[in-house]
Amino acid sequence: MTSEVPEVSDEDFQEILAQTRHFIRTAVVPREQEILDDDRVPDDLRDQAKKMGLFGYAIPQRFGGLGLNLVQDVEMAMELGYTSLALRSMFGTNNGIAGQVLVGFGTDEQKRRWLESIASGDTVASFALTEPGAGSNPAGLKTKAVRDQRDWVINGQKRFITNAPVADLFIVFARTRPADDKGPGIAVFLVPADAPGVEVGVKDAKMGQEGAWTSDVSFTDVHVDDSALIGGNEDIGYRAAMTSLARGRVHIAAIAVGAAQRALDESVAYAATATQGGTAIGNFQLVQAMLADQQTGVLAGRALVRDTARQWVDNVDRRIAPSAAKLFCTEMAGKVADLAVQVHGGSGYMRGVPVERIYRDVRLLRLYEGTSEIQQLIIGSNLVKAAQR
Ligand SMILES: Cc1cc2nc3c(=O)[nH]c(=O)nc-3n(C[C@H](O)[C@H](O)[C@H](O)COP(=O)(O)OP(=O)(O)OC[C@H]3O[C@@H](n4cnc5c(N)ncnc54)[C@H](O)[C@@H]3O)c2cc1C
Repeated sequence: MTSEVPEVSDEDFQEILAQTRHFIRTAVVPREQEILDDDRVPDDLRDQAKKMGLFGYAIPQRFGGLGLNLVQDVEMAMELGYTSLALRSMFGTNNGIAGQVLVGFGTDEQKRRWLESIASGDTVASFALTEPGAGSNPAGLKTKAVRDQRDWVINGQKRFITNAPVADLFIVFARTRPADDKGPGIAVFLVPADAPGVEVGVKDAKMGQEGAWTSDVSFTDVHVDDSALIGGNEDIGYRAAMTSLARGRVHIAAIAVGAAQRALDESVAYAATATQGGTAIGNFQLVQAMLADQQTGVLAGRALVRDTARQWVDNVDRRIAPSAAKLFCTEMAGKVADLAVQVHGGSGYMRGVPVERIYRDVRLLRLYEGTSEIQQLIIGSNLVKAAQR
């Protein structure tokens, strides 16, 4: 693995970041309730995001993306996390878990065929790894790809696939043989959503992140040819998934910091103005203690995310640090959001109050792209392995 060199100068990046911040704060924040009520990101916001290049900010420039590296990506993510997480989710799979599989492991031909339309947002790509019984342990996946003369025939069932209801392309992980000494026997395929035999289930009814859609996807005798086998390599799938997920964890940690910052800002604004018995609640020291815990968590999270992203791009640590950042920041965001509801008292439990949405939105961050327990296992097992070497 080589270092990730940024394709955008610092100066240009600051401009992109400022534009993103402006878009989030002035165009998206005022429409959070609409996103929630309609369970969809309005088309005009989608179009604006497309024009700004947000569907491809992490895709290399030669394929039409903005070419940000992970150090820049996390700064963007901290801005994107400030509003309804559905917005980020709309282009999250293109830049992240799905897009990065192609960027990191696709053949030149596959990259040329797909990455430009992924970067522009004309193609929505979904990452289809999880199955019933194979979530935390994707090595146990049962979806099969079997050779039939020049084709591969894919059969299996995927679950909770982000953007599946609007996907044009599925990045599908499938077993080509049982795990053996040579490897886990998992390949990854490019499967157009309109291929015969692909069926997308009804939208899942979720706890939060209204406007971000997931569903089951089933593959029944889906035929693809050799050009669909990512990297032209039957054994690349597991490594591609793990690498893409590890990078994604740093991004998710940054999203958590952005959401926690918003929960803190809402809490401070409320505490400064809401009164009890004529006194602003922010004057009560126990309320100040909650704000202090929130602020401390946000500062610690931001510092960790920046350090982890730096270690990633310099190829110093792509294993322990991403899991530690995701574990700390997503748990931190959960606590900060919980405190935000507490600072708001009964109002914090009411629909239409931003912290109520944030509380539900951030709950997912501790579950997907590896649960907190899986991050603990990755961190602990790698520490012990290193010591035993
Ligand atoms: C809204 C949403 C969007 C998602 N988007 C995608 C997507 O786009 N693509 C995709 O492929 N997947 C996606 N997922 C799936 C997600 O990554 C999995 O749900 C997650 O990895 C957990 O797997 P699971 O649901 O099977 O839970 P399980 O793995 O069954 O976990 C249940 C509990 O058991 C614990 N556990 C499991 N194994 C161990 C172990 N070995 N040691 C200790 N504890 C353990 C877990 O930490 C958890 O607490 C999404 C999920 C959701 C909810």
